[in-house]
Amino acid sequence: MHRYRYLIIGGGMAADSALKGIRMSDPTAQVGLVSEELDKPYNRPPLSKKLWDGLPLEEIWRPNRGSQVNLHLGRRIVALVPLRKQARDQTGEIYAFEQALLAIGGSPKRISGDDESVMYFRTLADYRRLRALSREAEPITLVGAGLIGTELAACLRKAGSSVDLYCGKRGLVRSILPEVLSNELARSLDGHGVRLHFLSVSNIQKANGTQQLKLSDGKMVTAKRVVAGLGLVANTQLAKDAGIVCSNGIDVDASLRTSIPGIYAAGDCVNFWCSTLGRRLSSQHEEHANFSGIAAGRAMAGKTVDYSPLPYFYSRVFDHAYEGIGWVDTSLKHHVVAPRGPMEATVYYLHDNRVVGVLYWNTRADLERATELIEAKRPCTPAELVGQIQ
Ligand SMILES: Cc1cc2nc3c(=O)[nH]c(=O)nc-3n(C[C@H](O)[C@H](O)[C@H](O)COP(=O)(O)OP(=O)(O)OC[C@H]3O[C@@H](n4cnc5c(N)ncnc54)[C@H](O)[C@@H]3O)c2cc1C
Repeated sequence: MHRYRYLIIGGGMAADSALKGIRMSDPTAQVGLVSEELDKPYNRPPLSKKLWDGLPLEEIWRPNRGSQVNLHLGRRIVALVPLRKQARDQTGEIYAFEQALLAIGGSPKRISGDDESVMYFRTLADYRRLRALSREAEPITLVGAGLIGTELAACLRKAGSSVDLYCGKRGLVRSILPEVLSNELARSLDGHGVRLHFLSVSNIQKANGTQQLKLSDGKMVTAKRVVAGLGLVANTQLAKDAGIVCSNGIDVDASLRTSIPGIYAAGDCVNFWCSTLGRRLSSQHEEHANFSGIAAGRAMAGKTVDYSPLPYFYSRVFDHAYEGIGWVDTSLKHHVVAPRGPMEATVYYLHDNRVVGVLYWNTRADLERATELIEAKRPCTPAELVGQIQ
């Protein structure tokens, strides 16, 4: 049996940031980290960006956190028993802990009927496989045009692959981007040779070494290499089975504590309270993974933390770069302010006529100003929003 003062379950950026947070406050305690992946912790965003632009692979590893950290790689925790303060992996090995952190991320949404030959792109192992596939002459079919699908389309074109992208009838990144900006992104991908299909894939079946994709217009198409990026569902089952309260993610308070004492959670898997927006939410982005991880590590080591940030994300696809802060969601009322045309824009997302999110499209992001606007919580007219950027 392994015994740790601190046990971290998961091996992504939130897990590694928690190690950093623990080390900041308790430099000598023995820490165990159990990760299903065979690779030690690394930065995930370069997998669909800089690694395809020439960044050497060595640059993505997270720093070594010292000799008191034991990495148990290739191990999946399958049961957590809070009463005994123990966790068990798939081989039956037991990890006893005083405090544990769940930093277990999410699982990709899947296409009905799929099998293991569809790649749900998430990990360094996926990157290595896709890089190898991109060297073959076979076209690559991408399903899903959110942040990762559109970024991968650009990466694969840069690598010389022939790419089909099934993006659904609403178009690209539509949960975040207003139609006018989504169309700009489509123009850019199309201009770089990505074949865009405004259809979704409702089912996929393997037949004679190929995949048969059933499309939303009823037609069938054949593809040999299918890569999907359809979004993520927070991993909650392990926590639920242990009796931890979960809603749209593992529920945590501002100290990243779950409903069971001694068990914390951070990163993509959590549902946290955002005091500025006055609602619970999840954020499946890099900044939240890093900051919630550090905060959880510090809290586990006995420090007072108050984690209640505005979510932040960024993306880059060919010549388009955008970043958003707050509640950025096109199902909300939104105003696009683009005095110089759609190549540069600021988008304001409103709830009850108050700004709750801001997106900067190919323009310098004034995150401080955006935060002030969101925190002000006062009603704004479209004319005032235009005034914000003049
Ligand atoms: C390709 C890609 C590009 C991205 N680009 C951006 C970007 O440009 N900007 C941005 O803001 N965000 C980006 N993101 C999102 C960002 O990387 C994630 O929000 C972040 O990685 C989440 O970190 P995490 O540690 O919470 O979860 P994860 O990174 O998912 O890590 C969870 C880890 O836990 C392991 N695990 C799960 N269950 C268990 C278990 N039971 N036992 C043991 N281990 C387990 C998993 O194998 C995994 O290693 C990107 C994500 C991907 C996949």
